[in-house]
Amino acid sequence: MSDRGRIRGVLYDIDGVLVTSWQEIDGAAVAVRRVRESGLRRAFLTNTTSRTCAEIAERLCGSGIEVAAGEIVTAARLTAEFVGRRYPGAAVWVLNHGDIGADLAGLTLDDEHPDVVVIGGAGVEFSHLALSRVAELMLDGVPVVAMHSGLTWATAEGLRIDAGVYLPGLEAAGNARIEVVGKPAAAGFRTCAELMRLDPSEVLMVGDDLQSDVLAAQAVGLTGVLVRTGKFRAAVLAAVDRAPHHVIDSVAALPGLITSLANGR
Ligand SMILES: [Mg+2]
Repeated sequence: MSDRGRIRGVLYDIDGVLVTSWQEIDGAAVAVRRVRESGLRRAFLTNTTSRTCAEIAERLCGSGIEVAAGEIVTAARLTAEFVGRRYPGAAVWVLNHGDIGADLAGLTLDDEHPDVVVIGGAGVEFSHLALSRVAELMLDGVPVVAMHSGLTWATAEGLRIDAGVYLPGLEAAGNARIEVVGKPAAAGFRTCAELMRLDPSEVLMVGDDLQSDVLAAQAVGLTGVLVRTGKFRAAVLAAVDRAPHHVIDSVAALPGLITSLANGR
């Protein structure tokens, strides 16, 4: 169990915690404001790959949740930094749903003759032909980097499967490993702690994905809080052998949890 009295910052997942299909989850705006007013630092870590940080901030503000673009770390932004460092100057084919060009600034995009393939969030672009081409490029030795390995996300119309569903099959067919950058990889959590100028042990992560948000954060030393909104399913929680540090009905209960942790209860 983490050192409960040391929480100095909150790292929020966005989708399924603050909003579903960009509609505020009941009480999220008030809870986020109250946590900020209590003096805690904060950042927002999302595997969203269909919108830029600026667009996400605009959408959240439109839902009544006051967030600045600079407080948001997307899997796309993390991936662009990673690929730029690991493969400087490489021609990159980005297979992704959504226009996120601004967050990929610095990469040389080339879907004809790529040196590196980046797999983003799933959508109609993940066609049989496109996925077949990724496998073929892998067999030819072209490295593949995934923005994240999330399996699903929640929409107002139900669950949608995400890129993580395809990665194991591509690795088998392409006979190579795919490097994952966003959640649940450790790098994103560490980057956000650095952004808040805090040690991971001082940060509380709140998410609706038990594995990708909560248990992955706990593995890096953060305190994990699972919400029962978004993609939460009781059966998934019951089946896991590691427990989240805390489970709350929704982010609306977060200020109360933080108060009780500060009081050592
Ligand atoms: Mg989520």
